[in-house]
Amino acid sequence: MLDISWAREWVELTITAISSHHVELTRLDRDIGDGDHGENMERGFSAVHGKLSGLAADATPADLLKLVATTLISTVGGASGPLVGTAYLKASAAVSGLTELDGSAVVDLLTAARDGIVLRGKAEVGDKTMIDAWTPAVDAAQRALDDDLSITEILRAAADAAEAGSASTDPLVARKGRASYLGERAIGHRDPGSVSSALILRAASDALHGNRS
Ligand code: ADP
Ligand code: MG
Repeated sequence: MLDISWAREWVELTITAISSHHVELTRLDRDIGDGDHGENMERGFSAVHGKLSGLAADATPADLLKLVATTLISTVGGASGPLVGTAYLKASAAVSGLTELDGSAVVDLLTAARDGIVLRGKAEVGDKTMIDAWTPAVDAAQRALDDDLSITEILRAAADAAEAGSASTDPLVARKGRASYLGERAIGHRDPGSVSSALILRAASDALHGNRS
């Protein structure tokens, strides 16, 4: 089972991963967007970093995810702030009141996060957005759960699928967001939001080390 220490570790590893990849994220967004995705995400997650110490001692995973959501929504400009913020908000609601998450709750959390992004952004798989990372991740997590695999394997499957899904955006023409203005010129470039989403999902898996599962 996963508890608040896993959720905290997930958020802390995400802050570190976004910070160490922000130059790459911005470079990708310079190729097919307006070159601010790294700064947007880093601004949001460093604001989250500043708020972690204020988290109540008896906070649940849902409380922490809600803190991340409200912080991202209020500090990140650009399309990604409301989209990723909504993902955390819906993830929080999916595990509301739980102090420990089993495999099924983890899949619910990931599914709700993805559904939140779709609700706001209306993107489908193949539109060359962060959904190309999230939907394969959710599908892989659900398959791992159905196969009775452990939480470790569920989260590893999600992270692996997110990275593969992000790489699958390279040959696509974008149908949502700024990159959609470029038409065929977006071909050959990876979608930056799919890369940051894959970092978030890899951090969820890496956060398991030291946790019971
Ligand atoms: P902006 O496009 O406003 O500059 P960012 O650069 O921070 O915002 O984020 C761009 C990322 O947002 C894209 O790489 C893409 O993954 C994601 N994105 C844009 N529009 C949508 C959408 N409608 N649905 C899902 N993701 C989207
Ligand atoms: Mg941008």
